[in-house]
Amino acid sequence: MVGKHLKQIYMKNKQFTFMYIKPDAFEYSEEILALIRKEGFEIIYISKEPIILTREQAEAFYGQHKGRPFFEDLMKHTVSGPIIAAVLEKENAINDFRILIGTTNPALAEKGTIRNLYGNADLYTKGIPANAIHGSDSTEGVKTEIKLLFPEFEDM
Ligand code: ADP
Ligand code: MG
Repeated sequence: MVGKHLKQIYMKNKQFTFMYIKPDAFEYSEEILALIRKEGFEIIYISKEPIILTREQAEAFYGQHKGRPFFEDLMKHTVSGPIIAAVLEKENAINDFRILIGTTNPALAEKGTIRNLYGNADLYTKGIPANAIHGSDSTEGVKTEIKLLFPEFEDM
């Protein structure tokens, strides 16, 4: 009984997050997924095959950035090749995953973070937002982004 009770308390702190490996880091997918697992994230759902986003999906995904100077480059980059998308589960998944991926600019990303290891600082400096990976920043973001990339979860 005690064991069951503790398990319920533990489960309460579990959280989902959503991530995708961007086209510039697609070739490092295996290494990145291994690092994510090593850091304690459980991959509970993953795209069975690589996805290539449409312009419409990319615009919906990054709608909040429309009008920003980098938006057009972001759109081009987002649809430029295959991505791998996944839902992760862990205690404090959203924040912990943002820490694991590192800050947006790979040239400034903290040592050992995914954007530091697999982002392309040279391309980023030239205006191509090649920062390897996306991680949701809020519970609302997780829901919207899962619906956009995994239409099979429509009733969430
Ligand atoms: P994050 O992905 O860290 O949450 P944002 O939500 O601010 O960052 O931006 C979304 C994506 O847009 C970034 O991951 C990056 O690919 C691109 N981006 C953001 N800011 C810039 C910028 N100043 N120059 C080029 N690309 C950018
Ligand atoms: Mg963001």
